[in-house]
Amino acid sequence: MAAGSSSPSARPTTSGPGTAVAPVPDATLAAISTGRLPAFDRIEQLLHQAHGLFRDVADGRVADYIPALAHADPRLFAMTVAEVDGTVHDAGDADHAFSIQSISKTFVYALVCQELGHGPAREMIGVNNTGLGFNSVMALELNDGHPMNPMVNAGALVTTSLVPGNTSTAKWAFIQEGLSRFAGRHLSLDIAVYESESATNQRNRAIARLMESYDRLGFDPLETTDVYTKQCSLTVTTHDLAVMAATLADGGVQPVTGERVVDPAVARDTLVVLASTGLYERSGDWLFEIGMPGKSGISGGIVTISPGKGGLATFAPPLDAAGNSVRGQLATGWLSAELGLNLFASRPERRMHGGAP
Ligand code: GLN
Repeated sequence: MAAGSSSPSARPTTSGPGTAVAPVPDATLAAISTGRLPAFDRIEQLLHQAHGLFRDVADGRVADYIPALAHADPRLFAMTVAEVDGTVHDAGDADHAFSIQSISKTFVYALVCQELGHGPAREMIGVNNTGLGFNSVMALELNDGHPMNPMVNAGALVTTSLVPGNTSTAKWAFIQEGLSRFAGRHLSLDIAVYESESATNQRNRAIARLMESYDRLGFDPLETTDVYTKQCSLTVTTHDLAVMAATLADGGVQPVTGERVVDPAVARDTLVVLASTGLYERSGDWLFEIGMPGKSGISGGIVTISPGKGGLATFAPPLDAAGNSVRGQLATGWLSAELGLNLFASRPERRMHGGAP
């Protein structure tokens, strides 16, 4: 347990995750059925149709609490579908680079889960929704300082504190290299966004310090916040994000490079956490409308994962009140229905031996 050994001070939970539910054995991975995406031309057509349908929606506001993000062009609109066979479909501004922000939490969590294992990840980071905003301090106070899940800032800071390495340089190298393996190319830092957020991230530093006071953090609070701020400032396109998402859809194998980035059980656990917490306090609304695990970021990106089929990424900077891209949610919902991605949708089986169809 490489990360655990570098984090002797983090203690297991006394609240948050319960112990009543037995962990699911990995043998369940032997029996899975997730169907197929439509054919190449149909995906291309639907993607461009979705772009045309939602391009002119002007609702929402570009995030401005990180000054560098306030300059984003609100008209930018990109979407990409990456299939698990490595085929990628782009539409709109799919080559526009933006900072990954909270979407990084997904992939850093997967890498840390790989190090910690199923049980310790659940104990130390958690899997339950807070019902509160992504940077809520109240959620921490209500839960004995337990971060509750890796997708809110508190849980993401704990996750980053548990990254292998005894120095912030080593932790940052692990994250940058690991997320680059998900993307299949070297991801670089947006220095302007990093400096802008570093100058204004007092709240994240306070959250880290608060968790330190509860003995929940595995590393120095200010250095942890700095590494976390860097991970949020990595630049990606929707093309990158869709391929990264497709890696989780493909049981942890990057579909373009063929490299195994995480184990199948880790990909599964990451998707479960996204389904329950990826859109913060709106995760229930998201699952009800879209029916897939997803993760949003404050710069306007959203990734969605269809297990066994592929990844979908959208980018449009204007956000709703919870910090989720308005156009991204609309396009993802429409595409989820048209591409047949909702995990909970099923048709009655045709009965061969009598009985109603
Ligand atoms: N870097 C941002 C923060 O910590 C990420 C928030 C987000 O994307 N929701 O506030």
